This record gives sequence, structure tokens and C-alpha cells, in this order.
Amino acid sequence: MNVADSEVVASILAQNGFESTSEIKEAGLILINTCSIRDNAEQRIWGRLKAIGHLKRKNNATIGLLGCMAERLREQILEKEHLVDLIAGPDSYRDLPSLISEAETGHKAVNVLLSREETYADINPVRMDRNGVTSFVSIMRGCNNMCAYCVVPYVRGAERSRDPGSVIREVRDLVSKGYREVTLLGQNVDSYNWKDEAGQVDFPALLEMTALVDPSLRVRFSTSHPKDISDELLKTIARYPNICRHIHLPAQSGSSRILKLMNRDYTREWYMDRISAIRSIIPGCAISTDIIAGFCTETEEDHKDTLSLMEWVGYDFAYMFKYSERPGTKAARKYPDDVPEEIKTRRLNEIISVQNTLSARSKKQDVGRVFEVLTEDFSKRSQDFLSGRTSQNKVVVFPAEGHRKGEYVNVRVERCTSATLIGKAV
Ligand code: SAH
Ligand code: SF4
Repeated sequence: MNVADSEVVASILAQNGFESTSEIKEAGLILINTCSIRDNAEQRIWGRLKAIGHLKRKNNATIGLLGCMAERLREQILEKEHLVDLIAGPDSYRDLPSLISEAETGHKAVNVLLSREETYADINPVRMDRNGVTSFVSIMRGCNNMCAYCVVPYVRGAERSRDPGSVIREVRDLVSKGYREVTLLGQNVDSYNWKDEAGQVDFPALLEMTALVDPSLRVRFSTSHPKDISDELLKTIARYPNICRHIHLPAQSGSSRILKLMNRDYTREWYMDRISAIRSIIPGCAISTDIIAGFCTETEEDHKDTLSLMEWVGYDFAYMFKYSERPGTKAARKYPDDVPEEIKTRRLNEIISVQNTLSARSKKQDVGRVFEVLTEDFSKRSQDFLSGRTSQNKVVVFPAEGHRKGEYVNVRVERCTSATLIGKAV
């Protein structure tokens, strides 16, 4: 999400005559895009600001904070953080050129207005993901769900869908530049909904339109919400081989009581039903998740429910977090953050350990099988090897032997490490 936003910012600045540099020491303007999702994301930004303080003194560089943390902490930053000259929330990037001019006159420049319309639909992002093969395309902004732990609706505003015409134009443009994979991005893609005089486009329709742009273009999307993911969407995926066989379906918890407290609007049973639907409609589909350990009032029993759900699903991959209270959210206002830090840590470690076993099992099952791999770049370790991903989103490394990045190559998996499948082109 933030990569996609930084690309929009880069595009707005390029249109206004700014040039980028890969040498931070040479920069006259330093913009830091920020995330507020967990406290440690914000702590990293404070650290980073300290680290670049000397550049401000030496080069007289203008320093700006962009994104969610700018939105959330504007007053605190203005009062306490003298290094920061400019603050721009996620919906005010078009205003950056004038904010920068204002900041250069020595005034603090601030725009943190959230919008009900802004989708940056007409801005063709400058690609900063340099492999030239895979790219993100933002299809909506904001979020209308009110998960009790989550700061997103407060810092990124209400949900808005982007004009499908502009999405498809961006995808076509990427294809014409040689890109071979797009990931459609939104906080809850299943609630994508565009209406105009011509009619209505929902997410299955948008996904289909994207898949039809070019059969050799892979299409991914993130994130689906368990309460909204429909059979119609699953059937659309099943119909198009170029829509990838991978669904990221964050469970957050395996306990219906905790899910209710989290305001997730589904139960453990509902979630399991959605997993069964994926398994029957899209055989061979990989499934990944997000899990939060130690949410308010979580008992040992609730935690065990999470572990057993993970095992039941057999996730191929997971992002796992300790609950981090975010000021202003429903959970912060209403529920005590009452799971002690050491218990959160222990539960998170148990969750990670279960997932390590599941991830290893998932990779071992692939050994001996042949997958179509879209190659993305040389392997980090050696130019003799290429690295790419399967439709199921698993990383595969194999000897390059004349193949290039951006090619589809059939690879037989011979063995695996904890993170990677290793094979040979067949
Ligand atoms: N919109 C997506 C993802 C949102 S943020 C969704 O609903 O799934 C990505 C992940 O960060 C969430 O899925 C959640 O697992 C985690 N997260 C969000 N707020 C958090 C918090 N306060 N503490 C710990 N993890 C959090
Ligand atoms: Fe946050 Fe929930 Fe929206 Fe995801 S769906 S961004 S977790 S409020």
C-alpha cells in the first residue's frame, strides 16, 4: 500500500519538475512515507528522523512526513519535532508542490484533510519497484470497516473505489511496458464498488476485466475480507488461469468470542466455511493469513482456538503480530490491553512455530511437481540463478541457463529450504 502511495507521490513531483536521487546526501527535499498500523512502525520513523537530522543542518534539506503517521500525529509532530517542515496526509499528495514551496519559505506546511473522493485515479504512478515485471495497482482507498484494533479508518478515511476505466488503463500501460504481473490493492477488495451512468462494477467484474487485458498477465489481489469474499469471486478466479491461485484471507483470531470483540463480523465457523468454499471451487489454491496474538481479554482457550484454526486451514504463509494498542481505536477506548507483554510474546512464538511447521509442510508437498514460474530477477545470491514465483505465490529459485526475467518457465521443484523452493527448468 505504501509503495503504491510513494509511487503516486513520485509521479506528482515528477510532473512538477522535481528529480529523484538515489543519494540521500544530495537531496534538497526528503519525504518519508509513514505507517501507523502498529507502534513499532511509528518507532522506526522516529529513529529514521533522528538519523537524517544532520542532513537538514548540512544541506538545508526540507523534510516532510507523509501518510498515516502524519495524519495521526500532526499536532505532536509540529510541536515536538522541529526537524519536520511539512506534513501531508494520505489524501493531500496533489497539494505537495504548494506545500513544499510554503515549507521552503520557512513556514511549517500542513495538509491532513481526508477526502471522500480522492483516488488519484488519473495519476500514472512512477514505478519504484524496479524489477520491471511485477507491480501494484491501487483500486480503492480508505476503509469502512471498524475492526476494533485498527487505525486505518482513522488515518486513511472512508472507503472509495477508483474508476475501473482508469484501473484498466493503468494495467494496459504496464503490459505495454513489459510488466507481467499486477496486484490489485485495497484494504477490503471484496467491497470494491463503482457506480456511474454506464452501470455498476463490483470486484469480481473488475478482476475479470483485468484478467482479460492480456492472458499472459498474472493478476493478484489483496486484501480479501472473510465476511465479504463471495462464491462469485471464487468462481471468477477459477475461470481464468491467469488469476493467481492464492488468496490472502486474514483470520486475525480463531476464537469467535475474540472475533466479535474485534468487530470482524464473522465467526470461526463462517471463516471455515469460506475456506471450504475456496478448496472446492479453486483446487490447488494457496491460502495465507494475518494473525494477531494477545488481543484484549484473550484467554489461553481463545489462543488455542487460533492455533487449531491455523492447523485446520494449513496455511501456506502467515503474517503474525502481537496486538499493539492504537490510540483512538474502539479497542483503545473500550477494552483493557490486559494480556501481559510476556504472554503476548509467548503466544506469538507459539503461533510462529505452528506456522513454520505448516509452511514447511506446504513446501515439501511441492517437491517433485512442475510449476509455471514467472521469473522476476536474478537470485540474490548468484547471477547464475533466477528467482520467481508460482501462481500460488511461492518463491522458486532455479539455474538461469539462458532464461531471462519476465519469462514464464516450467520448473520442476527438487528440494526446498524454509523460505524457497529450488528446482530446474524442464
Ligand atoms: N485491511 C486488511 C489489512 C489491514 S492491516 C485486512 O483487514 O485484513 C494488516 C494487518 O495488520 C491486519 O490484518 C492485522 O493483522 C494487523 N494489525 C492491524 N492493526 C493491528 C494492531 N493494532 N495490532 C497488531 N496488528 C494489527
Ligand atoms: Fe483495518 Fe479492518 Fe479495515 Fe482491514 S478491514 S483496514 S483491519 S478496519
